[in-house]
Amino acid sequence: MSSPAKRTLVLTVDYEIFGNGTGDVRQHVTEPTERMCRIAEKFGMPVTVFFEMEEYLLFQQHREALQRLLGYDPAAEMRRQAADLVRRGHDVQLHLHPQWFEAGFAAGEWQLRHDRLTVDALFDNHEKTTAFIRARKEALEEISGQPVNCYRAGGFAAQPAGRLLQALADTGFVIESSVVKGMSRGKPHPLDYRGAPAGRRLWKVSDEVAQEDRRGPLWEIPVHSVMGRRYHQLTFHRLMAKFSKHVPKERQVEMMDQLGVKKTIPGLLSFLRQPVPIKLDYHNLTPGALLRMIRRAPPPPPGDEDVLVLIGHTKEHVNDAAFEEFLRRVSMDDGLAVTSLGAMAAGLASAPLATPPALADRPLMTLPA
Ligand SMILES: [Zn+2]
Repeated sequence: MSSPAKRTLVLTVDYEIFGNGTGDVRQHVTEPTERMCRIAEKFGMPVTVFFEMEEYLLFQQHREALQRLLGYDPAAEMRRQAADLVRRGHDVQLHLHPQWFEAGFAAGEWQLRHDRLTVDALFDNHEKTTAFIRARKEALEEISGQPVNCYRAGGFAAQPAGRLLQALADTGFVIESSVVKGMSRGKPHPLDYRGAPAGRRLWKVSDEVAQEDRRGPLWEIPVHSVMGRRYHQLTFHRLMAKFSKHVPKERQVEMMDQLGVKKTIPGLLSFLRQPVPIKLDYHNLTPGALLRMIRRAPPPPPGDEDVLVLIGHTKEHVNDAAFEEFLRRVSMDDGLAVTSLGAMAAGLASAPLATPPALADRPLMTLPA
């Protein structure tokens, strides 16, 4: 007897401080993560944590200076948390912001390499790129005690990615999750995902994340999005996440600059009308808006798993009640199930040539008794 097919959700969270090197690991990473995961556990749902390994390695390298400065060792706290989360049934996967690689640390500040925003920009050959990815994958597996086979690029910057994707495939990765359909931007992080396969939930890739290659060694599973205009993003929820007192002032000014907001009324109006992808981001949308977006997604084409990847950021987690309300409503909907990206990867890897296996009826996670 088969139950009706379910729509599967994956709750991913990017686990990191701010992209300019500001922020505090306890305040912006470990404490919000603990709160989110405790809430998810009430509903038996796993969270997929995209652990920013490059900043972790720097924290580890500078642990003595950080201990003196902060009164705690941020790398040690991240390490303990990753292992603990996996024991509790959550999933820890690899996230890298290449600007942290070989970054400097002086007078309590990080000097990040903002000229190197993709893994492909770090090395000019396959061997070095593969050694770089392998070292991070193995270090994270050692920390978390689980297989690491899913990847998300920092800042969604996975173009160009010929060397990155080959390195991921050669080191046993199964899923890449950096594409946001419809996203495009210029410097300093140029990328263009407007040509990503329309209507598809996942596709195989070889050397380009936004282009299907049926013989490719990796699966791309994008962060779910729909096209809207910037003014659709102007919600109280999103503004709270981006500009609460929790976010350093300096980072807020930088965000305004990056957005290129014009300081005239016509400039502002044309800015607000720009088409942008609205991501399925549980830190930027209300529970009601998230549920609408999830239910309105058209069914996938035959053969595609009906999966929608959600995103959040530990540093934007300010509202426990909204997160809990969202998960409560998901748990009450019989048409929805929640799984982890690691569990999906296990399913896809065991049937690499066939249609993705149905994950819908699989138990979500096992909570310790
Ligand atoms: Zn990130």
